[in-house]
Amino acid sequence: MTQALGFFTPWIIYLLITFLHYFMPGRWVTGYVKHAETGELLRYKLNGRLVLFTCILLWLLVGFMGWVPYDWLYAIRWYSLAGAFVFGLVFSLWIVLPYPSTGRSLLLDIFLGRLENPQYKNGRIDAKMWLYLIGAVMLELNILSFVAHHYDVFGTISPGLLLGAAMLTYFIIDYLSFEKVHLYTYDFFAERVGVKLGWGCLTFYPYFYLIVIWATVNLPDPKTPLWVLVCYTLLFLLGWTLARGANMQKYFFKTSPKKAFLGIKPETISDGNKVLLVNGFWGLSRHINYLGEILMGTAIALIVGYPGVLWVWLYPLYYVALLLPRQLDDDKRCATKYGNLWQEYTQRVKYKIIPYLY
Ligand code: NDP
Repeated sequence: MTQALGFFTPWIIYLLITFLHYFMPGRWVTGYVKHAETGELLRYKLNGRLVLFTCILLWLLVGFMGWVPYDWLYAIRWYSLAGAFVFGLVFSLWIVLPYPSTGRSLLLDIFLGRLENPQYKNGRIDAKMWLYLIGAVMLELNILSFVAHHYDVFGTISPGLLLGAAMLTYFIIDYLSFEKVHLYTYDFFAERVGVKLGWGCLTFYPYFYLIVIWATVNLPDPKTPLWVLVCYTLLFLLGWTLARGANMQKYFFKTSPKKAFLGIKPETISDGNKVLLVNGFWGLSRHINYLGEILMGTAIALIVGYPGVLWVWLYPLYYVALLLPRQLDDDKRCATKYGNLWQEYTQRVKYKIIPYLY
């Protein structure tokens, strides 16, 4: 019985998130990518933060009432992972197989997807935004439940674990607060919906991003000195500043090209037709935001205080493995899109990700 309940718990949560996302109020915004047939910019209904806070309140409520233990998602973690795994695969096949091939092999189509930006119910549900929302909320519920389990075992919460959980929570709230800015990212203009995005958001995101907490939740407080915790927190904040700063500067530039961001007036190069930013965050390296993500991942891995537990290193390593090829791919895409202007940019801003190093 527990196994079946555990297996279907993510299905129930995903359904609940969909219901909340669909029925709760949200703001309608115009995005960056265009409808494949009409050429009009797509519109999105966004209410991620509201859905997240509602789900956290529900988690607190059902725990407080004694209907579902606070640490339920910890207790059923393996069954729930299996349920999310199957749900992710079923969804991915459902969103790929009925649609015309892109000309690639079937396996590649299943992995990378066929539809570019599928929307349902007059745009009230955009597949990509829905996927990110589910992943983010489920990850947060998992974090809360794992921390509750740690508290049950030790009667207190290790400061490192608490800070790691807080950083991941901050990362989630930050993403859901800036949903609109993410409409301007690679996932929207360069990716389709297949296993990579579908299974990635429904299974990988809410469970793998938990790995640092998962691997150390049953370990006692490692008694990391306060000054070391402060250093790791500063590392996280530095990473966040680079990632969020670069994303916001680009977003401001694309939406109001002349407007200064954080006092940085946009400096640009142009070929008379297209324009690129060359100062501020975009003058440090061509993808300083990727360095920011890697630093945040490293800080989370370190702060729990068990660098000898190799599992925790999978988290920052995953970012390296994801973002290095993505940077090369994006560079190629931009070289085609911007032509000589991109050459000029790469001469002015020489480093790909890490200033003075790479
Ligand atoms: P970017 O936000 O860096 O977007 C790259 C695009 O920006 C380019 O394709 C180009 O698109 C435009 N661009 C590049 N250089 C310039 C310039 N100098 N001036 C103006 N426009 C430029 O990358 P992503 O979309 O990959 O990432 C977005 C964010 O999401 C990043 O912070 C990334 O780290 C984060 N991320 C987080 C993940 C996670 O799991 N936490 C996973 C993946 C990404 P255009 O055609 O519009 O000009």
